[in-house]
Amino acid sequence: MIEEALQGEWQFCTVEMVKKNGEWYVHFVLKKEVELPDEPETIIAIDRGEKNLAVAVAVSKNNPDKPMKGQLWRGEEIKRIRGNYGHIRRNLQRKKLLKKVKELRGKERCIVNQQLHMIANQIVEYAKQFPRPVIVMENLTGIRDSFTKSKKLNMRFHSLPFRRLQTYIEYKANLERIEVRYLSKKEVRNTSKQCHRCGHVARKVDGRIYRCSKCGMEYDRDLNACINIARRVMSSAGWGSCEPPEPADEGVSVKPTLNAGSHRLKAVVVHG
Ligand SMILES: [Zn+2]
Repeated sequence: MIEEALQGEWQFCTVEMVKKNGEWYVHFVLKKEVELPDEPETIIAIDRGEKNLAVAVAVSKNNPDKPMKGQLWRGEEIKRIRGNYGHIRRNLQRKKLLKKVKELRGKERCIVNQQLHMIANQIVEYAKQFPRPVIVMENLTGIRDSFTKSKKLNMRFHSLPFRRLQTYIEYKANLERIEVRYLSKKEVRNTSKQCHRCGHVARKVDGRIYRCSKCGMEYDRDLNACINIARRVMSSAGWGSCEPPEPADEGVSVKPTLNAGSHRLKAVVVHG
């Protein structure tokens, strides 16, 4: 990477000296501009699931009614690592070994990051198998607040670092010349409650399977939500009629923010 930078492929943003565990490290932040294809053909929706760390589904502009090859990342390994480290940490805390606790936190973060990098690579590989993909995810800025209200049982899973995963996906995707777009919280409203087949919005969804009381569809809950995200992008971009056949009963309206034809052509990839 540094050699590439010296040859002018990457641009230096900042160079910083950092002291870590008594040793000095040089921290380079590099930047490079990448051309992105201007007319995507396949929407790759990536979502954090209720039951999975990440979920992906592909929907082609040419055949929006047929979502393709859903894939789930359960994040079991990350859950296990966090469980183990949490256990050790609590023991150390009880013995008031606070310096050790801090060290352990750093180590845990490092191992979890490795896992996230691996999953991000798999997700970008997933996207690459489709023609002219664009990756779409929910903008999770400020999302933490809503978790404080969620049930205790769900807390560990929800605190899984999906946002960190998103930044890795964006960085790796851009290097492969794949564009990444974000939808606002408003734009993804009710995607988990809506049936992707008939558009009905359920009041509540329980368990792993989405069961539509209107059309009878049974579908993996996280994949159903992910398909809805892909559809909303398509309709807001003006790519064919992908709206559900009937209006949702909670008054969901999706404001178009992505105009067809106004695609961002360049992405700045930052490596830090
Ligand atoms: Zn339905």
